[in-house]
Amino acid sequence: MTDDLAKAIRVDSVGQEYAIVAATPCACGGRWRVIRQALVQHAGRFGDRLEVTCAQCGATGVFLFDISAFFGAPL
Ligand SMILES: [Zn+2]
Repeated sequence: MTDDLAKAIRVDSVGQEYAIVAATPCACGGRWRVIRQALVQHAGRFGDRLEVTCAQCGATGVFLFDISAFFGAPL
């Protein structure tokens, strides 16, 4: 497992992260439930790492998003 943000999915908001998770079902067709969310930092970029489990079959997975576009941006 890697936290290499170069491979992370770039998003513009947290809502977009959840939209992508919702649009990417488990192999069984079940919906992912986020069980853990962690901020990761690598080479000056920020990421959001979501650990998910399938509500239907119990499979687990990880989504890694690059949130540098909005995290830490000046208000
Ligand atoms: Zn499943």
